[in-house]
Amino acid sequence: MPFTPLGLSPELLKALAERHYAQPTAIQTAAIPSILQGRDVRACAQTGSGKTAAFGLPLLHLLQQRMTTVLAKQGVLILVPTRELAAQVGGTLFALAAHFPKRPKICAVFGGVSINPQMMRLRGGADVVVATPGRLLDLVAHNAIELGSFATLVLDEADRLFDLGFAEELERILALLPAKRQNLFFSATFPPKVQALADTLLHDPVRIELPPDDALKPAITQRAFRVDADKRTRLLRHLIKEHAWSRVLVFVATKFAAEIVADKLRKDSINAEPFHGVLSQGKRTQVLQDFKASRVSVVVATDMAARGIDIAGLPVVMNYDLPRSAVDYVHRIGRTGRAGLEGLAVSFITADAEAHFKLIEKRQGVTVAREVLAGFEPTEAALPAGTPAPGVHVPGVGGVKGKRPSKKDKLRALALAEGSEFSEG
Ligand code: AMP
Repeated sequence: MPFTPLGLSPELLKALAERHYAQPTAIQTAAIPSILQGRDVRACAQTGSGKTAAFGLPLLHLLQQRMTTVLAKQGVLILVPTRELAAQVGGTLFALAAHFPKRPKICAVFGGVSINPQMMRLRGGADVVVATPGRLLDLVAHNAIELGSFATLVLDEADRLFDLGFAEELERILALLPAKRQNLFFSATFPPKVQALADTLLHDPVRIELPPDDALKPAITQRAFRVDADKRTRLLRHLIKEHAWSRVLVFVATKFAAEIVADKLRKDSINAEPFHGVLSQGKRTQVLQDFKASRVSVVVATDMAARGIDIAGLPVVMNYDLPRSAVDYVHRIGRTGRAGLEGLAVSFITADAEAHFKLIEKRQGVTVAREVLAGFEPTEAALPAGTPAPGVHVPGVGGVKGKRPSKKDKLRALALAEGSEFSEG
């Protein structure tokens, strides 16, 4: 079934067509008509089910209607557990509203970054606020937002809001919202506490429960950026800030690199710590505790030290240096996408690591598109296949200890030293 029968505005349909959403997902088909009617909704929905658009489309539709009439201004408040999700949901809604004659004001607000720009953005009110609970209460305390005019509340990933200890903040926020409002409740699971909140919050809700879809199992998205070796730290910094990543585990090849990269990030006000075998056990435990509690946002680690790291909800793993083997690669990226959450694994591919990454892709049976970011275009040329990356030992290449290097080995060494082209045969 296409989207058309759902009665969404032409502007929304245009945005959907641009995103190549040909038809609504199951949760969208189930939720959109009820939300348009103003009903409360209780939906059991996994990440990846299309739940953002399931509440975003009808809420934007209603907002668009209100914006073209003289109806009193009412805000939509969307509470989410993490800043990544706040940025993501805000971005999706912004894109879906791209063709509205008058663009709604959509603000994503979350902790871990300066509050002042968010206070400025909220001046004069906002149509949609996507927020993490702690920062929202800070903004209320600063008189930057008045919750009495938010007549629609969405709880996104309600179970994770509880897991992350936001129960008390939620209660305080609920007390500030108008009593008469539309409530939309989305959660992947309904343990007793979550169910109890749903029961008190929702009035005669439409219940949506979809059979779990195996295709929606948490997935690790792999991305690869081509970049010059000496621009990697800058690119890392850029990505962390751009995507508001709250916790990133960065893998480097040496203890030295761990220290240097962490130091450079700290100089740029990113809370980073090195993590390697030379640090005392006490220090390592401290770093891990701080990382888990989000007091440290980036840990720069060597493979050896990272073996034992198991952090629930780690959203991003970064290969600043590629690991030596494909097995290590799988081990590294498996640190994310745990406990039913989506994960992102990003690799930096310098020119001399290209051949090695191809090998890693081959072992996994996948290909990862190479991306180049504006401002970080690589200038180094890729070495031909078969050339080892510095520090990476590829059996059969570079000579075996005790044996005299062959002519081919010598040529390779020369090519490496001079950075010139080398072709076999
Ligand atoms: P969500 O569950 O909201 O995180 O969405 C999961 C993914 O599905 C996102 O990448 C969306 O862009 C995508 N998506 C949502 N709705 C549709 C649709 N109707 N058709 C195709 N993709 C969709």
